[in-house]
Amino acid sequence: MATGKSTSLYTRYTLSSVLIYNGATVAHYVLGGIGMMLGYGSWIGYVLGSLYLVFSFIEMYVHMPLRVCRNCVYYKLDNSRCISGLNLVSRKAVAEGSVKAFQNRAKGPVCPNNLYIASLIFPIIAIVPALILSFSALVVVILVVLIGLLLFRFFVIFPKIACLHCRAQNICPQARSMGFGKNT
Ligand code: SF4
Repeated sequence: MATGKSTSLYTRYTLSSVLIYNGATVAHYVLGGIGMMLGYGSWIGYVLGSLYLVFSFIEMYVHMPLRVCRNCVYYKLDNSRCISGLNLVSRKAVAEGSVKAFQNRAKGPVCPNNLYIASLIFPIIAIVPALILSFSALVVVILVVLIGLLLFRFFVIFPKIACLHCRAQNICPQARSMGFGKNT
């Protein structure tokens, strides 16, 4: 992924970028939950889907602002709005952390980064056995949309909308793994 050319870093992402990011995130979680419920059909599907919905929304919209965003540069910057807007939630909810601790988001097997990735991949993996057990065209469509949303996130949102312009890219493990921030 190209990073050599200089690109403007945003202190305040546009509202459209924030809406795209959160729209794709919420759509992924909701479709994932519904896909599991419909795919497995019985109470098992409803329990699995409901647990997934609770886990994914808490991981993204509670755990992230409380544990990760407090250490992010967007928490500290005046008039800032990060790609998810969660820096604004974090500021209201918790005291400022330390930028040095930001990299902890990628440390350990159950670190926030891994939980985030798990919340995106889990429904895709979980729906496949349901389709093998009981085929449903609607669930296939949901699975295809989920895969599309995942690819859209990794090949469009991260490299072209979010990480490309992020002021945390030189310390963010995720951005650096994609090659951003190495020249900053
Ligand atoms: S850029 Fe990421 S870590 Fe920083 S405030 Fe926004 S969501 Fe949190």
